[in-house]
Amino acid sequence: MKTTAETQKYLNFINGTWSKSHSDEVIESTNPAHPTEKIGYIQNSTKEDLEEAIIAAKTAQTKWKKMTGAERGNILYKAADLLEQNSEDIARTMTQEMGKTFPEAKGETARGAAILRYYAGEGMRKEGDVIPSTDSAALMFSKRVPLGVVGVITPWNFPVAIPLWKMAPALIYGNAVILKPATEAAVTAAKVIECLEKAGFPSGVVNLVTGKGSVIGQGLAEHHNVTAVTFTGSNKTGNHIGQTVAARGGKYQLEMGGKNPLIVADDCDVDLAVDAAISGGLKSTGQKCTCSSRVIVQEGIYETFKQKLVDKMSQIKVGDGLEEDSFMGPCATKEQYDNVQRYIEIGQKEGAELIWGGSTLRDNQDGYYLEPTLFDNVTSEMTIAQEEIFGPVLTLMKVSSVEEAIELANDVEYGLSASIFTKNIDQILSFIDDIEAGLVRVNSETAGVELQAPFGGMKASSSYSREQGEAAKEFFTTIKTVFVKG
Ligand code: NAD
Repeated sequence: MKTTAETQKYLNFINGTWSKSHSDEVIESTNPAHPTEKIGYIQNSTKEDLEEAIIAAKTAQTKWKKMTGAERGNILYKAADLLEQNSEDIARTMTQEMGKTFPEAKGETARGAAILRYYAGEGMRKEGDVIPSTDSAALMFSKRVPLGVVGVITPWNFPVAIPLWKMAPALIYGNAVILKPATEAAVTAAKVIECLEKAGFPSGVVNLVTGKGSVIGQGLAEHHNVTAVTFTGSNKTGNHIGQTVAARGGKYQLEMGGKNPLIVADDCDVDLAVDAAISGGLKSTGQKCTCSSRVIVQEGIYETFKQKLVDKMSQIKVGDGLEEDSFMGPCATKEQYDNVQRYIEIGQKEGAELIWGGSTLRDNQDGYYLEPTLFDNVTSEMTIAQEEIFGPVLTLMKVSSVEEAIELANDVEYGLSASIFTKNIDQILSFIDDIEAGLVRVNSETAGVELQAPFGGMKASSSYSREQGEAAKEFFTTIKTVFVKG
């Protein structure tokens, strides 16, 4: 059982057992749509709890790595089935815990199952190459081997998909994992771990330790028995973790923020571009790392595009994500809600023109609701054109050419995702060549990734390593070069 007698108290999962923290303290998780409603309580864990998890993981990994890839894969397949069977409950919990609409939460949970199946199949794929030796009597080959114990530190915005796209490859390649999810979405994470428990991972291979980033996240980053740390979250935290892990010679992977441009060229299908701005910019209340944030529009189509965008924004229904017709839920936390409002104020102070939204909807709705918001006349030096807002705010910027648009698009520290809408093949090719982004999208929104393809950013958005698809093997394994002579 994952809960104590008092329902809604979610425990740690260490060495195959659900257990209370040594602190005897819990952290509450609330519903951003109804802030007084408690979704559950998670353990406020201590370094002692983490130490137990690390010892368990290290011991379990020595046996786990000896199982065949096919055997490990079968457990991942089972976990996928269990996740699917529990998807209604997990998705509802996600909506209640961090505000994402229920259809999006269902989609994310289905994605989680697909990720598990993709990596289950990896257990049957090749793990090395034969390399010709200069010695004709020798056999030389490379062999991928697991790292050991992997610390998994995740944000609240994709509480099912991100932990799984890190844990599934880590596990299939023979590592043991310790998940430290964001406290804001840790009840959802506990429900995912429950599926993994029932799938039959041997005790200690999968562990969950919830609690403060500064204690448990920091503890994972510092610990010499945690060979690698995979992190998704903000730049501030990520850079600190990277430095901490590097200082002790560990391996790390950081996926961080974005300030993603959507370029709209004069010749494009304007309705498709408007839909992409709405979907890529405002779904999940703008709280995706791949969200369109800067909409860079060529002057010939600018006014038409703007009008159509405002028309569509005016039809958006904001509300509790469990209500069927809500397009956008609340901000995930009070902190997010305050922060986005701060950016809206800064935008106005710096001279951007607020042409749609900008207000809180809390007068008539209880939760952390904000209107979808649009700024016009935004210039590149403005704070709202440079910093990640992580909320339902779009900024419009006017350019005379696609060349200028690409230059503007690159004029930020981030480089996660970028998109262009155009029918001109020369413009498409220049964009693919010149844009500084890890995810390059043509006639498609900036958000939206496929699990079988590499995922990650350039510049300050990432540590340049890639997640998902086959790319995950690079991070979660290391190579032995074997030379055999009879
Ligand atoms: P965050 O950095 O505040 O927290 C992320 C995780 O780090 C949480 O589990 C947190 O508890 C932990 N943490 C906090 N302080 C720590 C410390 N000192 N040491 C170790 N761990 C610590 O991020 P967030 O607010 O949860 O998520 C939003 C951010 O995540 C945004 O910047 C967004 O762009 C980014 N994000 C990036 C991607 C991507 O793939 N590039 C995907 C989703 C979200």
